[in-house]
Parts: sequence; C-alpha cells; structure tokens
Amino acid sequence: MAHRTLIATTAAAIVPAALMAAPTFAKPSPATPTATAFKIGAFTAYALRDMLNVVPNDGSVLGVGQPVPAISQILADAHAPTDQIALGVDALLVEMPGHVVLLDTGLGPKVGGVLPLSLLDAHVEPGQVTDVLITHSHPDHIGGLVTKEGGLAFPNATIRMSAPEWAFLQSKGGAIATVIATKVRTFAPGAEVIPGIRSVPLPGHTPGHSGYEISSGKTRLLDIGDTAHSAIVSLAKPGWTIAYDTDAAEGRATREAELARLAASHERIFAPHFPFPGVGFVVKAGDGYSWVPKLP
Ligand SMILES: [Zn+2]
Repeated sequence: MAHRTLIATTAAAIVPAALMAAPTFAKPSPATPTATAFKIGAFTAYALRDMLNVVPNDGSVLGVGQPVPAISQILADAHAPTDQIALGVDALLVEMPGHVVLLDTGLGPKVGGVLPLSLLDAHVEPGQVTDVLITHSHPDHIGGLVTKEGGLAFPNATIRMSAPEWAFLQSKGGAIATVIATKVRTFAPGAEVIPGIRSVPLPGHTPGHSGYEISSGKTRLLDIGDTAHSAIVSLAKPGWTIAYDTDAAEGRATREAELARLAASHERIFAPHFPFPGVGFVVKAGDGYSWVPKLP
C-alpha cells in the first residue's frame, strides 16, 4: 500500500456555528433501484443506488462563502444545471471469500431509500451481509442500518467503523446508535478491517471519517466516502468549503492532499455522491481536478 500522510491541522479550526450543524438534505428524492456489477481483481463488486440529494446552488452547501456566479460558472463549464446540484446517494457491495461486505447504507428505507431493493438486484439478501463498513456517521451513510420499523437491517452483520467515529456517533446520541450498539466493532484509523480491505484515515468531514481500500492481487479500489461530494465543484475547487464538513479546515486539507495523491497514483475510486455508479478516476485539470467515470 502506498505511503499515506495523515493530515493534522495545527491551528484550531475556526468553524462558524452554521457549519457545525448536522447536514441537511434539502431535497432527498427517489432513485430507481439499481445494482451495477464490476470487478475488483477477483472480487465482484456492485454500486448500489439509494437516493438522490439535490442541493441548491446558493452557497449554502457547496462553495460556502464563494460568490454564486463563480460556482455557476464551474457548473456551466461542465454543461451541468446551474440552479441546483444533484448528488447521488449510493453504496458499495463487495463479495469476497468468506465475506459479503456492504460499504455504507444510504439514507434508509424510512425516508424512501431504495438500497434494500438495489441489494436484491445484486441477488443479495440483507441476512447474507457479513460486514457493514461505515465511512462516517452522517444520515446518508448510516440511515440504512435500520429497517422502516427501526430494527437491525442487516441482522447477521458486524458493523465496523473507526473508534473516533463511533465515539462521535455516540456523542450525538440518537436511535440508530442504540439499535446498532451490540453489533459495532471499532478499529484504529488506518487498520486492516478485514483481509483485503484496509481503512484509510480521511479526517475533517467527521472526526473518524475513513475511506476503505479494497485490494485483490494488484488491483485496488478506494471508496473515498465523503472526501469529495460533487464530481464537478468539489474536484474543480478542492479548497472550497462544503457545509457538511465538521472541521472545515481539516476537511479542506484532507481533500486537497487526497485528490492530489489520487490524481498522481491513478487509483480507481468509488465515490458515493458522484453520478451513479460513481466508479472512475480523478485527473488533474487546470488548478483543480476533473472526474473520469470508468468501470473496469
Ligand atoms: Zn455523505
């Protein structure tokens, strides 16, 4: 595995109160259940759709503090609508020897998430999932851990997240933390989580935010979690603040360093908020980056 530099912010981040608020999902809207299969070396993986999160282009979510015309210009340059920014809400499934691994769980069936149907499209029953790996504890990643009725959605799965992320989730309280408590196993950021999957510390979005690097032979794929949200704006302007980051300064430093590393290494990624299926490459473009979707 390539050497990674853990980003540490030395100065205390000054985060406006508005940015500390829990993320809001302006317009979570339905998606068509879909499972798109692809290979990671010898493993079979599926990108799974859950919902769409459409955010206004008004500087409240992406490009916080930037003039809206500047954000609109970037969207227009990419031939995208300039009134709103559509983000996918997706998850990843990996079938590997001895493990059926789900990475993140979407917003959940309670608010109309279709991940359970996408999973069935991949011919996987919830009870077959052995491990759920959580990148971080925001509702669009952990909402699907519980059923509509509030029970465990994946009754036989161990739920894995980094120790600082579990502490963060518990500090916020809420029903999901209580429901999953006996199923949670934590790991130190950077640890191998199960054979073939290593966690990658990407702090700032949340304190214990982790990517997951899946390796089979010489083939690798990194699930970047919420290191970048918009395949257009977050890549073109990695230095711009996104309202969803708990620590804006640390989030920015992590995003800038990780995107530079990914563009240099040409490692394939899965990004849960990029246009479905969210699989492809980050490439250098001007003073930022752009997205090249590409399934293996
Ligand atoms: Zn997210």
